[in-house]
Amino acid sequence: MNKRYSRQEKFIGSIKKIKKIKVAIIGAGSIGSFLAEYLLRSGFERLKIIDRDFVEIENLCCQNYTETDLGLPKALCLQKKLQSINKEAKIEYIVDDLNYKNITNILSGTNLLFDATDNMLTRFLLNDYCVKNNIPWFYTAILKDTGYSFAFFPGNACLRCFIKKPILTETCESAGVLSNLPAFISSMQVSRAINYVIFNKKDSDFIVFNSLDYSIKKFKVKKDKNCPCCGKKIFEYLNGKDYELSKICGKYVFQLNVDQKIDFSNFKNLEKIGKVTQNENIFHFSKNNVKISVFRNGRIIVKGVKDENEAKKIIAKYFGFS
Ligand SMILES: [Zn+2]
Repeated sequence: MNKRYSRQEKFIGSIKKIKKIKVAIIGAGSIGSFLAEYLLRSGFERLKIIDRDFVEIENLCCQNYTETDLGLPKALCLQKKLQSINKEAKIEYIVDDLNYKNITNILSGTNLLFDATDNMLTRFLLNDYCVKNNIPWFYTAILKDTGYSFAFFPGNACLRCFIKKPILTETCESAGVLSNLPAFISSMQVSRAINYVIFNKKDSDFIVFNSLDYSIKKFKVKKDKNCPCCGKKIFEYLNGKDYELSKICGKYVFQLNVDQKIDFSNFKNLEKIGKVTQNENIFHFSKNNVKISVFRNGRIIVKGVKDENEAKKIIAKYFGFS
């Protein structure tokens, strides 16, 4: 018995299977930064971390970073931290935006995937990729005082069986989140992973945890025979659906068309962090020199950003999409 894992192995038996699994974690923010550490400490020694962002001061209350990480890429800081916990583990990191163009390349060889993104469009992309390639994946989300967990296993229901489209939503940036919630929900995801790898348990329940009233609710998710993804095997998001931003009206203006009716009431918390005005058809939000206009029919215009990447980051930050 390896001394490092002796306590865990006393309880669940050999963790050889865990050590062999190649895991990818998409997102190294509040969820990803804790999840990666808990996975490693549980014996998942082959980890790939993908994140496009860097550490900022407002991250320190709910993400697993320190002041010495400020300004550095999250994926790099996390890789260093994990290697300091276990120098023999194989920890790879990629500082990039995961999208339909690079997903096959970045995730090739992966056996198990964790979503830690706070981004609906990326989740639909991961869902397409995992259903197509028969790879289990774990959905994780947090907002305010509530955490959400779902697990996909080949043959079971997928994300698109119960969420038909990636929608614009509140995010931790716009509505806030309790600092202790990421660690809790990350720990739950590790339990689900251990249950799958060691005990071959493939439960796809949707779990909702409320951290202020301590309640945990489980919902059965039914497979939809007409699901475009797992039913009809049409993988639209792998082909770039809803992804492309178009440049309009000059250098600093970008447009994204998300092809859905938008409910402005989801964005009321943005009033607390920037200037909001709205009428029947358009919701305007501005902060610093950036202005975002969301049209009820699904068009989003971003003004005042330097390039397409920045436009995508801004839409992801405030609307959980892109
Ligand atoms: Zn499905």
